[in-house]
Amino acid sequence: MTTIKLHNTRTRTKEDFVPIDPDNVRMYVCGPTVYDRAHLGNARPVVVFDVLYRLLRHVYGAERVTYVRNFTDVDDKINATALARKQAGAEGSLEQLVQERSDETIGWYLHDMGALGTLEPNEMPRATQFIAQMIAMIEDLIAKGHAYAAEGHVLFAVDSWKESYGKLSGRSVDDMIAGARVEVAPYKKNPMDFVLWKPSTDELPGWDSPWGRGRPGWHIECSAMSYELLGESFDIHGGGNDLMFPHHENEIAQSKCAHPHGEFARVWLHNEMLQVEGKKMSKSLGNFFTVHDLLEQGVPGEVIRFVFLQTHYRKPMDWTEKKAREAEATLRKWRDLVSEIGCVEGEPLPEIVKVLADDLNTAGAITLLHEEFRRIRKLRNELLQSVEHEGPILAEEVSDFVASAQLIGLLTPEFGDWAQDKKLSTEVRDVIERLARKWIESRRSKNWERADKIRDELAAIGIRLVVEKTNSSEWRYENPDYADNEANRARLKALLDLESK
Ligand code: AMP
Ligand code: ZN
Repeated sequence: MTTIKLHNTRTRTKEDFVPIDPDNVRMYVCGPTVYDRAHLGNARPVVVFDVLYRLLRHVYGAERVTYVRNFTDVDDKINATALARKQAGAEGSLEQLVQERSDETIGWYLHDMGALGTLEPNEMPRATQFIAQMIAMIEDLIAKGHAYAAEGHVLFAVDSWKESYGKLSGRSVDDMIAGARVEVAPYKKNPMDFVLWKPSTDELPGWDSPWGRGRPGWHIECSAMSYELLGESFDIHGGGNDLMFPHHENEIAQSKCAHPHGEFARVWLHNEMLQVEGKKMSKSLGNFFTVHDLLEQGVPGEVIRFVFLQTHYRKPMDWTEKKAREAEATLRKWRDLVSEIGCVEGEPLPEIVKVLADDLNTAGAITLLHEEFRRIRKLRNELLQSVEHEGPILAEEVSDFVASAQLIGLLTPEFGDWAQDKKLSTEVRDVIERLARKWIESRRSKNWERADKIRDELAAIGIRLVVEKTNSSEWRYENPDYADNEANRARLKALLDLESK
């Protein structure tokens, strides 16, 4: 059996992964707070842990892996969006508007993440479905002397667990107090104490509890839901590295204190951030765009996924349009070859499984896929030239190539045939290229009128010419809005005839 190696944040080393129970490998990943569409950064952990999920299923069997990812559907930000809607005249109570906002956001999320080819986890609990379990856990923490009630709040007492608090992120409580922006409140015994329960107003979502009507804090949600669905010890806990402190430290404190005989999570995996111009993409910095924006612009979900996987999950990654263009060109080539030769059920290549099992080296897996693609294409070309050859060729190689790509969620049937839909016939491509060369010649000879005419005529049917120097040319074109129909083909021909005179 393949040995998977994972970098464990807790021990700061790459370790051989040994599941607690190989018949039920269990993974929990912190999910989104559902108040708005997911930005591209939010999608990174989803894709990273989807690759891990696929690898675990491959190694242990699809039926032997349980993946849980929650929805945080009780939060100030959701309340704020509902309040804004109410103020803008929306019908219904604030509580109903909060519910509507969560439902709508969850729908968008599942759609957008599905478009990136991610599998749905086995369980997607909503925090509001587990309030009773959270209350029970908080009561237990109070009974064990790890939490205290004050002024309608319940707080976790970090001093009750001081020797272990901060181990994951490698800080001591004193360092944290010095460095962190902690909310100082009169009812806190230690400024680092964090909220397990807080009061809620009458209009906003709230639940009856021994401490009055209120709602849970964010951290207790994951502790309660992971315990209910995966037990007191499970294998892997994942999330973005921005969650390591305080969220994950607090999850550990709560879970270890409530279930002292359990291990909580054995392996902690954290993905680095997605950046734009060297800065973390985030709502608060305002430098974000959503997955939905990109899909609307015609960037195929598979292309987004490919770009993500080219960077190792523990390295920051930059999203650039250039990367997206190159990824699209590669996927087109791959898809063309696959549809030309055809494929059946295949097996992932052992060397690709091995590279991926080395702490999810997705970039390494892609390099091997490139090599395998080139090898198959060369064989194909050689075979096509040999006179004797007849009948189907290389189907087995292509099938294994596809199975290998599918291990990282590429070339899966769910993506549909986007490359085919946008594909131009060679004839049309040839005409566009000839026109583009005439356009560049005209620009060079400063015949702007002719150059602009060619550019505008093409733009009118959805083909955009762009000046861009590469090794082989000075231009490229984009055709996301071009419809390859009779009328447009006739217009292209007429333009070429006119320009060739
Ligand atoms: P939030 O909605 O901010 O709680 O984030 C939801 C998930 O997205 C968490 O796992 C975060 O770690 C992750 N996340 C947020 N911003 C980024 C980013 N720029 N790059 C990668 N992951 C991110
Ligand atoms: Zn969490």
